[in-house]
Amino acid sequence: MKRTSQIQRFLGTLLMMAFFLISTFSTSAAQTAGIIDNADESGVRGWAINTTDPAAAAEVKVVITNQANGQTVAELITNASQYREDLVSHGTGNYGFDIPVPWSSYGDGTYLVEAYGAGQKLSGTRIHPVGDLAAANLQNSSSSLRSLGVFRTTAYCPCRKCSGGWGGRTSTGTIAAANHTISVDPRVIPYGSRIMIGGVVYTAEDCGGGVKGNHIDIFFNTHGETRAYGSRNVEVYLVQ
Ligand SMILES: [Zn+2]
Repeated sequence: MKRTSQIQRFLGTLLMMAFFLISTFSTSAAQTAGIIDNADESGVRGWAINTTDPAAAAEVKVVITNQANGQTVAELITNASQYREDLVSHGTGNYGFDIPVPWSSYGDGTYLVEAYGAGQKLSGTRIHPVGDLAAANLQNSSSSLRSLGVFRTTAYCPCRKCSGGWGGRTSTGTIAAANHTISVDPRVIPYGSRIMIGGVVYTAEDCGGGVKGNHIDIFFNTHGETRAYGSRNVEVYLVQ
C-alpha cells in the first residue's frame, strides 16, 4: 500500500513537471503568419508578422532548393521590418521583407522557394527558373511540373457577392490568402494539390458551387482585382 502511494506521488510529480514544461513552451513559442508575395530575378519579397508580439520584427528564413536533386542551395535570413501600408491594420505595419538572391551563383535549374518565420512555414511557395532551359521547361512542363492541360480560370474575393457568407474562410477550414488559395472541383484536383498558374504555386483548399470540372477559381483580396482578372484560359501544372 505504502509502495503504491509512493508511486502515485512520483507519477503526480512527473505530471506536474510535464504541465509546467508544456505551458512554459507554449507561452514562449512565437506564432508567425506571412506569405511570399513574389520571387523574381532580383530576389524574394513578402511579409511576416510575429502574432505573439506584433511589435517585434519576425525573423524570416528563405530556403532555396534545387528541384532536380532536392538539395538546399541557400538559407537566407532577414528581419521582416520594412513598412507596408497594407499591413498597418495588424500593428506597426513594419512587416515586409525583401531578400536579394544571387540566382546565377546556384547554376541553371529550377528552384523551389520557401520561407519560414520562427520555424513556421509561410504560405506562397514559389518556383523560380535559372537559365534559358529551366525557363523553357517551366513553360513546357518538366519532371517536377506535370501539365494538367488548359483550364478556365476565374477570380473571387471575400466579398458577399463572390463568397456569400463565407468571407475568407475556405471549405477546408483554412483562411484564404492571395497568391496561395484556389478553389477547385475536388473530383478533378484533390484538396492539398499544389498547382502552378502563371508562375505562382497555389494550394487547392477551397471549392465553390460554380467551380466544376476543368475550372479553377483564384482567390484575390479585393473585388477590384477579381474584375481585373476576369476569365482566362491558361495551362496549369501540378507541382510534384
Ligand atoms: Zn468579390
